[in-house]
Amino acid sequence: MIDTPFPWQTAIQYIKGVGPNRAALFQKLEIQTLEDLLYFIPFRYEDRSGLKKISELRPGEIETVVGEVVAVGMSETSRRRMKVVDLAISDPSGLLHAKWFNQPYLKTAFKKGDRVMLNGKVKRGYSVGLAFEMESPHYEKVGDNEAQVHIDRIVPVYHETKGITSKALRSLTFQALARYGTQIPDFLPPDLIRKFHLPSLREAIQHIHFPPKGTDLSELNAGKSLAHKRLAFDELFLLECGLALRQQGRTEQVEGIAFDTSEAIVEPLRKLVSFSLTGAQERVLSEIAPDMASVHPMHRLIQGDVGSGKTIVALLSLLIAIENGYQAAIMAPTEILAEQHDFSLRAYLEARGKSMLLLTSDMKKSNKTEALEQIGSGQVDLVIGTHALIQEGVAFANLGLAVVDEQHKFGVLQRAKLVLKGSQPDLLIMTATPIPRTLAMTLYGDLNISVIDELPPGRTPIRTRLFSGRQRDQVYRLVEAELAKGHQAYVVCPLVEESEKLDLKAATELYALFQTETFPQRKIGLLHGRMKREEKETMMRQFKDKRIDLLVATTVVEVGIDIPNASVMVIEHVERYGLSQLHQLRGRVGRGTAQSVCLMIADYPISKEGKQRLQAMVDTSDGFKIAEADLAIRGPGEFFGTRQAGLPSLKIANLMRDVKILEAARKEAFAWVKEDPALSTPDSLALRATLERKWQGKLEWLTLA
Ligand code: ADP
Ligand code: MG
Repeated sequence: MIDTPFPWQTAIQYIKGVGPNRAALFQKLEIQTLEDLLYFIPFRYEDRSGLKKISELRPGEIETVVGEVVAVGMSETSRRRMKVVDLAISDPSGLLHAKWFNQPYLKTAFKKGDRVMLNGKVKRGYSVGLAFEMESPHYEKVGDNEAQVHIDRIVPVYHETKGITSKALRSLTFQALARYGTQIPDFLPPDLIRKFHLPSLREAIQHIHFPPKGTDLSELNAGKSLAHKRLAFDELFLLECGLALRQQGRTEQVEGIAFDTSEAIVEPLRKLVSFSLTGAQERVLSEIAPDMASVHPMHRLIQGDVGSGKTIVALLSLLIAIENGYQAAIMAPTEILAEQHDFSLRAYLEARGKSMLLLTSDMKKSNKTEALEQIGSGQVDLVIGTHALIQEGVAFANLGLAVVDEQHKFGVLQRAKLVLKGSQPDLLIMTATPIPRTLAMTLYGDLNISVIDELPPGRTPIRTRLFSGRQRDQVYRLVEAELAKGHQAYVVCPLVEESEKLDLKAATELYALFQTETFPQRKIGLLHGRMKREEKETMMRQFKDKRIDLLVATTVVEVGIDIPNASVMVIEHVERYGLSQLHQLRGRVGRGTAQSVCLMIADYPISKEGKQRLQAMVDTSDGFKIAEADLAIRGPGEFFGTRQAGLPSLKIANLMRDVKILEAARKEAFAWVKEDPALSTPDSLALRATLERKWQGKLEWLTLA
């Protein structure tokens, strides 16, 4: 018998019931092939298995009934003038009303005589005698012939798009499963299936769409049914196999630079630092040193909360590379931060008789040409830059170590480009976004991770308070009280989505108001992204030198800025920011020994999610807890920006919910690849084909990271 491969890649238009016209609509749901259709997972499930007669309905329960439309009408409520659509259906046992508010289009959705299914909470009807009613039930028209698909079972509900209803997807998936379902081959090694008691792939796909009778509805809706677990395992296992293969390629082949990290090199550098390092900083340095000494290129991530002192660790590493006769580079996401590094690192380099320069995109042409020459000839030892560092035309003579600061602001490709500016340089990347270790290893591939889990001594936790827009005067009084003590303040202005221009207007207006009315005695500064580099530099310098008391700024100050004397952070329109961003902004204060405050001004109404976010800010200043809350509120997709982090987006697995599965999948995948590096044993063949299919075009992209 000849094995024909399963037709995963069959274009959706050739699936019975689709055709070329509807195929275009499916594109919007990113469904192009049979595989995409089978992996288009329901986002919730409805239990329609206990179909009831209308006379059997119990008030207070969520029930499902099917009946025939006897009347549809629309009225208006007297008090709030809401439009109410009222539908009446009947079955041989009785009459049931359904109501929807403010959805007038529903009036035309039903016709007398239609058979419809309603699923919702049953109430006693007030308006119509003793009959029952449902408020805003889920509804679906049901034909007679398809009853087995849509009613009398747990049914899947899918995300819809224009022209494709959840019901249509259900029908189509049902048909596709009837036609192809039994032939779905497995690819997971049988040992693993047994070890984790997983269902077969065929069964998992069947059951994730059409769960068998008796499946726990809440487990299904939480994405925790057996079928979900199997598919989540698959997804994470394939991902980790890809990462394992990639890592194996790297460590075996690549030779980089083995730096001398002996006492003779390092001791004089440590003497330059005026404070003593924290235990955590010491530990991280002791993790970096062997990496740098090894001939394999270092790929290390430093995680440390805002203010934990990552810069000094990076600086010492940069200096080690430079003392070894190599060039070093540090890339920062904003010009202001690059300038700050330029300013604060300069003394250290000068003390060692080394040279440095700052490379930004708005440099004058002649300056830039000169800078590029110095970089290319190896004359300059340390280059600090923004994205300008990775532009074409920047060529290092001998880049030994590349540091990426605030790495979450960059994408994988940008990181990769920086590395390509040298010949296998060491790479150190830094972030304040803490995430669990397994997650981090997955997200950042084969990076080793160091954690700075200790703040420099003498810090007092920041006090965070929430105010409404009407309490602005109170906020400003608090600010004035801090300024009177000789401290300084930031006021960060509304973040208007994607519009730098509007940001600017708000900041400029507030600046004018502060100067003339609110704080006429104080020196006010203004800082935003549209200013020329010299202007920004001057402004930051003045703030640092305490010649400015209060700095009105846009989110250009979000990351990295370090002015220990600033003890007040006011955030306007706080409801518009994400949690991690708020934590970063707040991290601009609390960097000295004085008690710092973060005063958040919210304009109402705020969404429920917004309130959770702000409460989390008030409740904790621990970056790890904040990240957890952020993850829980936003979900991992948005939180990590998996695309940005270089991962294919996950359809089934949820990195937060499925951490345990992730850990198991990672362990097994790495073990499997170690055992069979070429995936050439009979047990690996199906796995390999699946990897090739799923990672098509992506694997190569990932190898760059
Ligand atoms: P981040 O981790 O947010 O980048 P920074 O590197 O900017 O933090 O450090 C925050 C502040 O703490 C800086 O002013 C820095 O000089 C100071 N700092 C760092 N390490 C120590 C230490 N071991 N002792 C005292 N101050 C420190
Ligand atoms: Mg920093």
